[in-house]
Amino acid sequence: AAKKESKDCWRFYTEKMQIDAYEKMRLTGSLRHALERNEFSLVYQPQISATDRKLIGFEVLLRWNSPEYGNVPPMQFIPLAEQSGLINSIGMWVLRESCQFARRLSEQGGSDIRVAVNISSKQIAVDDFIVGVCNAVNAAGIDPQQLELEITESVLIQSMEDAIGKLAHLKEFGVKLSLDDFGTGFSSLTYLRQLPVETVKIDKSFIDMITSDVQGAKIIASVINMAHAINMKVVAEGVETEAQLEYLLDKDCDIIQGYIFSCPIVEAAAMKFLADHSEV
Ligand code: C2E
Ligand code: MG
Ligand code: MG
Ligand code: MG
Repeated sequence: AAKKESKDCWRFYTEKMQIDAYEKMRLTGSLRHALERNEFSLVYQPQISATDRKLIGFEVLLRWNSPEYGNVPPMQFIPLAEQSGLINSIGMWVLRESCQFARRLSEQGGSDIRVAVNISSKQIAVDDFIVGVCNAVNAAGIDPQQLELEITESVLIQSMEDAIGKLAHLKEFGVKLSLDDFGTGFSSLTYLRQLPVETVKIDKSFIDMITSDVQGAKIIASVINMAHAINMKVVAEGVETEAQLEYLLDKDCDIIQGYIFSCPIVEAAAMKFLADHSEV
């Protein structure tokens, strides 16, 4: 079942977010055929420049509509895809489709709009990951700079040297890299500086503290300052209210992503968003 949210944003939910081992196994079984059965789709969430309110990019978010289970939230099926190894084929499909989307954006005058794709650490660990990314970019005929890969600090848990080497390779090729879900792990920004990322995304759980937790709000301000000190840009994720937006603008946050501007939208709506937010 899906619950209607404000401004036509749909949120998936199940009565119990915890699923048991048997359900996991059945879901994984369905997931195995989801790609060939065309059950996946992509939605795109605008990222807005804080200073001039211009559209600067879209984050790509995967959706699974299963005939058996309905809309399964990514928080449920992504971990199963990771555990089963299916994330590699699914992730490559997402990458190829995202590059094609970036291509269509340029054709509509959005050649400077970045398309940000979530990448699981499991994908990076695979040998032909870099080749796969380059192929997706080249097949779509886009500038590598149009593609951004969102990684999490869990890449460092795998094999740090391997991950850093591969990410450096990708950066050399020209794709952008950002650090997702910052604040939810245990690493400090100084440690994460070893990763060749140019952007850090502050997790929604921190944004939610802005109006409820004075200390939490101060942490955000200091993360923004630290990021700027090491020449990183900051994206605030899950911004929903004017009060949050005001605070983030005051603290010089660079980019805003959240329901306050738009929830994730289908391609036709994304193209309209681009047209509405282009310079005249
Ligand atoms: P994420 O990468 O941190 O993505 C941001 C999540 O926050 C998305 O949830 C987005 O819909 C949600 N969000 C954005 N703004 C707001 C807001 O203002 N309010 C609220 N309540 N939520 C907001 P979504 O689409 O359910 O995705 C959840 C997670 O699933 C993502 O977190 C990401 O870790 C993972 N994911 C989604 N698509 C992919 C994919 O293609 N590949 C991989 N590996 N992971 C993916
Ligand atoms: Mg993300
Ligand atoms: Mg995030
Ligand atoms: Mg996440």
